[in-house]
Amino acid sequence: MTSQTLTESLPYLDPELPIAARVADLLDRMTVEEKVGQMLQLDARDDLDDHVLGKHVGSILHTSPERIIRANELTSQTRLRIPLLVGEDCIHGHSFWPGATIYPTQLGMAATWDAELVEKVARATAVEVAATGIHWTFSPVLCIARDLRWGRIDETFGEDPFLIGELAAAMVRGYQGEGLDDPTAILATAKHFAGYSETQGGRDASEADISRRKLRSWFLPPFERVAREGCRTFMLGYQTTDGVPITVNDWLLSDVLRGEWGYTGTLITDWDNVGRMVWEQHVQPDYAHASAAAVTAGNDMVMNTPGFFAGALEAVSNGLLAEDAFDDAVARILTLKFELGLFENPRLPQDELDAVVGSAAHAELNLETARRSIVLLENDGVLPLDAAAPLKVAVVGPLADDAQTQLGDWAGGSGQAGWLDGQPREMITTVLDGLAGVDGWSVTHARGAEILTLEDDPRGAKFPDGQPRPSVVVPAPVDDALIAEAVAAAAASDVVVAVVGDRIELVGEGRSTATLELIGGQNALLDALIATGKPVVVVLLASKPLVLPASASQAAAVIWAANPGMQGGRALAEIISGAVEPSGRLPISFARHVGQQPTYYNQIRGQHGDRYADLTQSPAWAFGEGLSYSTVSYSDLSLVTEVLGHGDTIVAEVTVTNTGSRPARETVQVYVRDSVTSVSWADKELKTYHQVDVAPGESVRVRLELPVAECSIVDAAGIRLVESGAFELLVGPSSRDDALLSAAFTVA
Ligand code: BGC
Repeated sequence: MTSQTLTESLPYLDPELPIAARVADLLDRMTVEEKVGQMLQLDARDDLDDHVLGKHVGSILHTSPERIIRANELTSQTRLRIPLLVGEDCIHGHSFWPGATIYPTQLGMAATWDAELVEKVARATAVEVAATGIHWTFSPVLCIARDLRWGRIDETFGEDPFLIGELAAAMVRGYQGEGLDDPTAILATAKHFAGYSETQGGRDASEADISRRKLRSWFLPPFERVAREGCRTFMLGYQTTDGVPITVNDWLLSDVLRGEWGYTGTLITDWDNVGRMVWEQHVQPDYAHASAAAVTAGNDMVMNTPGFFAGALEAVSNGLLAEDAFDDAVARILTLKFELGLFENPRLPQDELDAVVGSAAHAELNLETARRSIVLLENDGVLPLDAAAPLKVAVVGPLADDAQTQLGDWAGGSGQAGWLDGQPREMITTVLDGLAGVDGWSVTHARGAEILTLEDDPRGAKFPDGQPRPSVVVPAPVDDALIAEAVAAAAASDVVVAVVGDRIELVGEGRSTATLELIGGQNALLDALIATGKPVVVVLLASKPLVLPASASQAAAVIWAANPGMQGGRALAEIISGAVEPSGRLPISFARHVGQQPTYYNQIRGQHGDRYADLTQSPAWAFGEGLSYSTVSYSDLSLVTEVLGHGDTIVAEVTVTNTGSRPARETVQVYVRDSVTSVSWADKELKTYHQVDVAPGESVRVRLELPVAECSIVDAAGIRLVESGAFELLVGPSSRDDALLSAAFTVA
């Protein structure tokens, strides 16, 4: 018998055996070094040979198309030929694959409020990702957006736990498909567990000062939902809470996630969490102790801590860990590999990718998502512009024709991957492209302003762990010549479309912002354009809610397009020209001033007064808001029963009438207010919603159902329960009190 046939006859290679038996057989054959390596996920851009042959890694991430093939060649040279799990941040599309479909960011997708659509996007993404040899996406983000200064607001589904849960669950379903044996299924990751977004001052990954009750009240529910619905992996946040890094947070990992929720999936740390306990947080003296703590706490996969390999082995030799301490984690990782069928088929990049990656069908889905993600915030009636008239349109602003910026973070040009610096220009429609494509309009373009330049951080180009330190943003000065050119273009036009916002240098990890204002010459540009007296349509192409200058209150219309993806410019042009009706709704509130932070709608009751001495507390635009081109009214909210038991379902009906002359897609939002709670609680919370198309002049009676069990609070002991007593059901088009109809009910 040759050694090859000998290997092939080993039980773990027999696809006929049950997976548990294959795992047990393989585990039995592994050395302690191979087990430690199996728990490691390292950066494929580094020394792949050493990763696979020296450290026996179980997984790699950030793999260019060429490196996937090389990695597979290397595993075939290893003793046990265990295939690699290949992971990537495919966050809103296959982010770093040249020519892949890039959709609106998660925050943009959230503005659709459409779980079915989000599921389709995730499914289409999985189809592209799986075809390219990647098995695992680090998506979706379930963090709650709280402080708008945080650089990762764009990665969230916004500020509401219920909406986050709906959309995240949809995304997980889309990625994981019908089951891991489906060749188009990829592993989803719920991240960043938990509380990562509760930053101080918006600073990325700072200590999250958050109580267990607060976690249980708002931050954990979306995670619990996807844990119970079978999201296969969870990523642990960077931060510490109550002094304990999440990576070793026994309460969160063992008591809550594995214990209460019975989660049996796989846990992965965030980037170098284990090393950070040594060099950044200074809570472990060395890598042996840090590795031992991470293994003991129940981590399965350690992302990018190369020192874990030697550290964990040292922990074994000095008695901090037993030799079998790795078995549970390794068994979970191997189980995933067997379930994906990687031992039989490592799922390498397919030969014919063109029909799948960046396909026409996915571009169509992307266009629909972009249309639905755009939120009309203000409109004095100027929109939609008359597509049949020979309009002269001045398309002005530094973002009107900036294809890569339109894609936002975690896309080709956002800097995380070294092997591409952008997605193909011809796949992207900018706002200028879109408007120039409207037949019969004559379009001029002027840049009008610069946004920023970059300077090296004087403290050096790298952080202590060797990661690049972001450059320092220097706002560009106002450029009078650019403004003059823009004003001239405006003066010669019937209408101005001004495209302003943020750039990638102001977005992302380690790139939180101190201000929310438009940077550089953009405010001066808007002031000058408004002063021309021409109608100005402001298109805020921004990763997150920003603050517009005072002059924008005289804009004819304001539209928000969170980085709207490759089809964003076309979708905006269709909305501006009235070919498509605007239907997006805010998944997050907009502040009037950075000092209003936080501005989320579901704040806890109890405060002296309700405003700042020098400013209202009310947001510029509130959660749930968004206009149609039509007007819609709500009336006759009625409850079938007003006294309900704990096991009952609230049934309500409301009439939604389109009082205008254009079709409307209305998002009927249902909030609950618990009148008196035993402990302080949010004044109202979104509990369900229903999207309905209403034709001009039509009235639709919308039926709404909500189990009483959803009307819960978390008490002082951290227990979620429904307290008997008086409630209000609030129904309407947004979270603003004056927009909501109210119906009282009692839980007996
Ligand atoms: C981010 C994660 C991401 C990981 C891998 C980390 O810095 O926090 O969200 O999945 O890098 O790129």
